[in-house]
Amino acid sequence: MNPSTPHPQRRRLTRAELRRRRRRRAIRRVAGLTLMLCVAAGGVSFLLTRRAAIPSASAASAAPLPAQSAPQEAAASSVPENTAPSNALGLTADEARALLADPLMVLVNHTNKMPDDYTFDTKECGSATAVNKTLQTAACDAFLAMQKAAAADGVTVWMQSGYRSVKYQTSLYEKKTQYYLNKGYDNAAAKEKAAAVVNPPGYSEHNCGLAADLNSPEHTGLDEGFENTAAFRWLCAHAGDYGFILRYPKDAEDKTEIIYEPWHWRYVGVENAARINASGLCFEEYIQTLRDIAAEG
Ligand SMILES: [Zn+2]
Repeated sequence: MNPSTPHPQRRRLTRAELRRRRRRRAIRRVAGLTLMLCVAAGGVSFLLTRRAAIPSASAASAAPLPAQSAPQEAAASSVPENTAPSNALGLTADEARALLADPLMVLVNHTNKMPDDYTFDTKECGSATAVNKTLQTAACDAFLAMQKAAAADGVTVWMQSGYRSVKYQTSLYEKKTQYYLNKGYDNAAAKEKAAAVVNPPGYSEHNCGLAADLNSPEHTGLDEGFENTAAFRWLCAHAGDYGFILRYPKDAEDKTEIIYEPWHWRYVGVENAARINASGLCFEEYIQTLRDIAAEG
């Protein structure tokens, strides 16, 4: 791919692709559930054997266990129920609401438009060939620190495309719509086809200044080939420490509804990145879970 391409080959999944991916995911889920049940059953039987073993004085290694476990049991039983949230993320409704209100956690995708009052300052951190060289100031500073750390490990990471103004997004979208109009599609069909390739204004994560398309001298194209670079491997291991998450993971295509994009990283801040990565959820799922928790309280 030409590194100067303003918007990489990002593409929304077609309905047929979505159905296939959902089916594959359902199969994986059943397999995973079966495995979990097996592990759980194994754990229960292990505990039962263990309990039976504890009273036995002949098991020397088991001897300290009753003394250790007794205070824990006492402490656990003295904690009143319902104090610790029992939801998947272990957050209270207020905590979930606070996270949702964090400007760094804004969800922008083809169904969630960036709020009109979402404003920010930007700063330049793009490479020499970058098309959109800026990010939100906090994201930019974090990227520069990350780039420096990567360089110290002998890895070069470039920021190739960052913040796109809504105005710029409008021109991209209109150009693409015109392309389909010229091909003979009617206005509605042309807009729909254009939207599958270029997000309408306000619906691209690049509009909020927190999305960064990254590349490296090893692979300048913004495409799946970036996956096979030292830069990508380094990012997978360290980007979270700088507040960046992989936004469109391979196994979350049916949730994000965007094809796997190893080059597209999203700044959410260090603490949020740690929480999201620990949850194992993609950003869409994480935000939905927060919304569910917030609605409960
Ligand atoms: Zn991108």
